[in-house]
Amino acid sequence: MELITTVGVVGSGTMGAGIAQVVAQNGFHVVLYDIKEEIVERALSGIFARVQRLFEKGKLSRDEYDALKARLQTTATLADMSSCQLVIEAAPEKMEIKKEIIQQLDQHCPENTILATNTSSFSVTEIGSVSKRPDRVAGMHFFNPVPLMPLVEIIKGIRTEDKTIDILVQFALALDKHPVTCQDTPGFIVNRVARPFYNEALRIKGDRVASVEQIDRIMKKAGKFRMGPFELQDLIGIDINFSTTESVHQGFFGEDRFRPHFYQQRMMQSGKLGRKVGGGYYDYEQ
Ligand code: NAD
Repeated sequence: MELITTVGVVGSGTMGAGIAQVVAQNGFHVVLYDIKEEIVERALSGIFARVQRLFEKGKLSRDEYDALKARLQTTATLADMSSCQLVIEAAPEKMEIKKEIIQQLDQHCPENTILATNTSSFSVTEIGSVSKRPDRVAGMHFFNPVPLMPLVEIIKGIRTEDKTIDILVQFALALDKHPVTCQDTPGFIVNRVARPFYNEALRIKGDRVASVEQIDRIMKKAGKFRMGPFELQDLIGIDINFSTTESVHQGFFGEDRFRPHFYQQRMMQSGKLGRKVGGGYYDYEQ
């Protein structure tokens, strides 16, 4: 593997902070960026609090804990990504933001730095098309919560070189993750196979065949799923889940099997977005 020692993470929200933590925990230096200093500092405090708990539980020694903290550096300027051999973009799921970041990274990073995007559902080929190095742009799709979820999808855009994919696979293995490679198709693997799980459940509910609670209970008891489709939407965020469904539907040029259900849209419009706001299909104590 080409030597990766320092990894940039652009966007330090839910995913960026989780990625930064896992990367630092596995011995790499991290440069963590966000648009404002206070946001990135808040993310860093969150990471420190989580690794402190690992230390308290005895999962890290004092030396490992201190070394891990020392490997995390924050910045509010993208120019500091110049020291990175790999930069992972984890900014909001907005195409124009992602393209703008890739173009700026092109200016600041050495020409062989790999630029990876954590997009959930956008075309990696389109994101890479604005780069001067499309052969070194790929998808690296982590799952939430990053420290706990082993799977990482490594996505090859039309112009991504095989070598870039090989390096990212090796890097994911170095993070103790389980990488799977896939082509740049709408929803990649996981978000594509997950669409019928949500959509069919919404249709069953819409047809009044079974209630939200019944569907979740059946999927868990009979289907042995860890969570039912409605509980999982509440965890992910109904808005996030809906926009991924819309994106996969559009990506397949409106194929009917991916068509979103209006009830999910109504839930999103109501503002009952799930756990993050204290209620969605279920109520949660804040
Ligand atoms: P988030 O909203 O928690 O975090 C996004 C961060 O990006 C925020 O801190 C924001 O300040 C920052 N940001 C905004 N504009 C920026 C810019 N121009 N440059 C750099 N940073 C900027 O979002 P998230 O849930 O962490 O999602 C990030 C990406 O990961 C999205 O592409 C999303 O689709 C993908 N993803 C999310 C999940 C999930 O479950 N949340 C799972 C897999 C993939």
